[in-house]
Amino acid sequence: MPVSDVVIVGASAVGGITAKESAKLGLSVTMLEEHSIPGKMHKCSGIMSKKGMDSLGVNYYPTVLNEIFGARIFNGEKYFDVRRNSTVAVVIDRQAFDEQCVDEALDYGAELKKNFRVSSFKEGPEYIRASNGVEDVQGKVLIGCDGVTSITAKLNGFPEIPLSETVVAFEGEYDNVDVRKSDEVDVFLDQKAFPGFFGWVIPVSETRARIGFATKNHKDISRLKDEFVEKFVSKKCVSCREFHHLIPLAVREQTQKGRILLAGDAAGQVKSTTGGGVVFGGNCGKIAASSVKQFLQTGELNYEQAWRNKYYSSLKSHRKLHDFYNSVPSSVFSSLFGLFSKAGLPVLLNKFGDMDFIVSKN
Ligand SMILES: Cc1cc2nc3c(=O)[nH]c(=O)nc-3n(C[C@H](O)[C@H](O)[C@H](O)COP(=O)(O)OP(=O)(O)OC[C@H]3O[C@@H](n4cnc5c(N)ncnc54)[C@H](O)[C@@H]3O)c2cc1C
Repeated sequence: MPVSDVVIVGASAVGGITAKESAKLGLSVTMLEEHSIPGKMHKCSGIMSKKGMDSLGVNYYPTVLNEIFGARIFNGEKYFDVRRNSTVAVVIDRQAFDEQCVDEALDYGAELKKNFRVSSFKEGPEYIRASNGVEDVQGKVLIGCDGVTSITAKLNGFPEIPLSETVVAFEGEYDNVDVRKSDEVDVFLDQKAFPGFFGWVIPVSETRARIGFATKNHKDISRLKDEFVEKFVSKKCVSCREFHHLIPLAVREQTQKGRILLAGDAAGQVKSTTGGGVVFGGNCGKIAASSVKQFLQTGELNYEQAWRNKYYSSLKSHRKLHDFYNSVPSSVFSSLFGLFSKAGLPVLLNKFGDMDFIVSKN
């Protein structure tokens, strides 16, 4: 049986970027994707900081649907605006972007096996074997880019990301919406309505928007949908898609076990302020690729340390902001909101801003 240098489980954004970087470094790569097409199937708001997107090295321009210059931040009836005179974020066609990431990997010579749902693994001294029950694929290193419910993590004994460290998000994309301003995002900070997170309206065009929220209370999704989304969606609106999905808010305690690595949502490489995971996950996937290259040359695999050295303090800073926002009682937050508007708390800027890489001293 042939052995690839790298086997990647999951061909969405992070899997595609990891595969492309690996193939660019001259490694033989096999991606395994459970669906008949790669990608997260639009289950994402698809708003990314422009700076973060530029850092990925993917030709994302054809997938851009809208450019965002600012945001209106609401707390109940109160609000303030933040705006810059240049594009701070882009709204993308997430499915097209995922397919672009994978296509670029294929262009560099990576292989993609579609309809390949990995269901078991076997670790030998020289390789890891992934199987869908019918076919086996072998790699010298295996990288799990298989999302928040990662089977790679589960079946290989990685520490769990507890459910309490996740939020569940609902989002719909609707046409014929009365969009307030087509180049500004609306963010709704309301800890009572959305414990652990917030609500949003992201314009895709002058008449189309992605409207959603996330909460720690997983059972509240349908009630909140009725109460929040319905405010913006009248009878004339057309629903283009609706979905709910988990967002991890904590980094997995361990992301490398022997020759098995995790990247992206599988590793919890997500900004806990906003749930954004494409930029950090993609950049960590690039580090995974260079770590594998180094491993094959020197026998030393240091992915865990390499990505944590570069990005862990930023992710920890996002987590601290998230924890701070959620620790302030709702009534206190409400009365402080005016002050926050003057202070420009970074958490408020993140959903639309270019603040992926917050630096923390500890
Ligand atoms: C509502 C919502 C809004 C979001 N908005 C944003 C945003 O605006 N900006 C942002 O940056 N991030 C956002 N995120 C987060 C972002 O979607 C994730 O961080 C990102 O998708 C992670 O990419 P990934 O490649 O690690 O995992 P995923 O995109 O989840 O991809 C995992 C891949 O693995 C495949 N797979 C899974 N199991 C198997 C298996 N057993 N065998 C084979 N293949 C398998 C899946 O089919 C899929 O293709 C949002 C998330 C949600 C839920």
